[in-house]
Amino acid sequence: MKTYTEYLWFNTPTRIEFINITPQVEEAVRKSGVKEGICLVNTMHITSSVFINDDEPGLHEDFKEWLEKLAPYGRSYRHNLSGEDNGDSHLKRTIMGREVVVAITNGRLDLGPWEQIFYGEFDGKRRKRVLIKIIGE
Ligand code: ZN
Repeated sequence: MKTYTEYLWFNTPTRIEFINITPQVEEAVRKSGVKEGICLVNTMHITSSVFINDDEPGLHEDFKEWLEKLAPYGRSYRHNLSGEDNGDSHLKRTIMGREVVVAITNGRLDLGPWEQIFYGEFDGKRRKRVLIKIIGE
């Protein structure tokens, strides 16, 4: 069995941002040499997400609006009493998820026709890391 590990780094200029990381994950699969297996992609931070959805800008704005309604920035969250201002970011990340697992078939990510992998940042302007772990034959 082969294993492969890679870390992606992000430092977004804005507080909330979605980045399509499918090309980087595909490149990691290629480098791993795995033809049949599993690819895990997870954020290593509790105020960002990795999720799969459509790469459609209108949808991304819909997500941002919806998340802002659910967990508005600047509200008096109990978490912010700890001296942080990112109570909303923790809640947004929980809704959007921590990780995705994608099958590898014939050396490629076996994604559905419209599925793309995104890094979702909810408390940006700082360095954050994403783990890619690939196992298989
Ligand atoms: Zn926090």
